[in-house]
Amino acid sequence: MYEDVRRRIVDVMRYMEERGLNYGRSGNVSVRVGDDRVLITPSGVVKAEMSPEDILVVTMDGEVVEGGRSPTVEMPLHLAIYRNYEHFRAVIHAHSPYTSVLAVAREPLPPIIEEMVIYTGGDVRVAEYAPFGSRELAENAVKALEGRSAAILANHGIVACGKTLNEALEVLTVVERTAQTYILAKLLGKAFSLPEETVEALKTLFLKRLTKT
Ligand SMILES: [Zn+2]
Repeated sequence: MYEDVRRRIVDVMRYMEERGLNYGRSGNVSVRVGDDRVLITPSGVVKAEMSPEDILVVTMDGEVVEGGRSPTVEMPLHLAIYRNYEHFRAVIHAHSPYTSVLAVAREPLPPIIEEMVIYTGGDVRVAEYAPFGSRELAENAVKALEGRSAAILANHGIVACGKTLNEALEVLTVVERTAQTYILAKLLGKAFSLPEETVEALKTLFLKRLTKT
């Protein structure tokens, strides 16, 4: 079942490893299909070496319907996002290097590049720290995602969401690139945010994209 989605998840995991957006056994991806089914990556495996059969099918309550492995420990994070934000149908969690620098500094990513605001809806907030895999982490991330498509997880990494898996990947890529730009600009001693009216106008574009069916 869901052969195409499984294959796409495997491809996305490999792509992220190749592009340095994620590495090794870290990171996880899910796609919501229908009302009560989520395809999700397994726990513990080297993500770039997964095959489509490794992907699990779970219910919105986290019950495994298909698959021989254990789902990722971050399953509560993925399911909480789907429960709270109906418009998101794909979630990527990764340990992307530059976003992780901000995660450790617990510093939000301000709206510095127009493209970023169109994809994220504004600044990327830092979700309050909670241990990996915990319900508290899921709750904190949901809070930080309000009106946004991405959040930085304190001392951990990033979560990026989209209406499709491609869109979630684009969000992740744009945030990581912008985090790199921001950190380098800060090293120069200056990093200016976009004017408030520009951010507001771009937010409207973001919301339009998000609510378009
Ligand atoms: Zn993680």
